[in-house]
Amino acid sequence: MTGKRILREKKTAEKMTAIYCKANHKIDSGLCSECKNLLNYVQKRLEHCFFGEHKPVCGKCPIHCYQKEMREKITTVMRYAGPRMIYKHPVLAIDHIIRSLKKVPVLKKR
Ligand SMILES: [Zn+2]
Repeated sequence: MTGKRILREKKTAEKMTAIYCKANHKIDSGLCSECKNLLNYVQKRLEHCFFGEHKPVCGKCPIHCYQKEMREKITTVMRYAGPRMIYKHPVLAIDHIIRSLKKVPVLKKR
């Protein structure tokens, strides 16, 4: 089952990709195929997140679960859409900022 935290992160990823795609890829509606791919990938990673409901923000996570190429793409999207999220989706944006200030869970070695 997908928890609240993960659902919210998926929604944030969706909004951010939409902001980025609309401004940079000039698609009439929805996402271009490249951004659709990226979003699918990100949402899959979220569903399989090692920390689940206790996940830190991805940028601070000790586990790097993204492929290099996808990581670079999403970083570009986040950098562009991040500041714009404050105006378009303040609740999601502020939630993310607050959580990025929280302590990152420590990975226990087994
Ligand atoms: Zn796009």
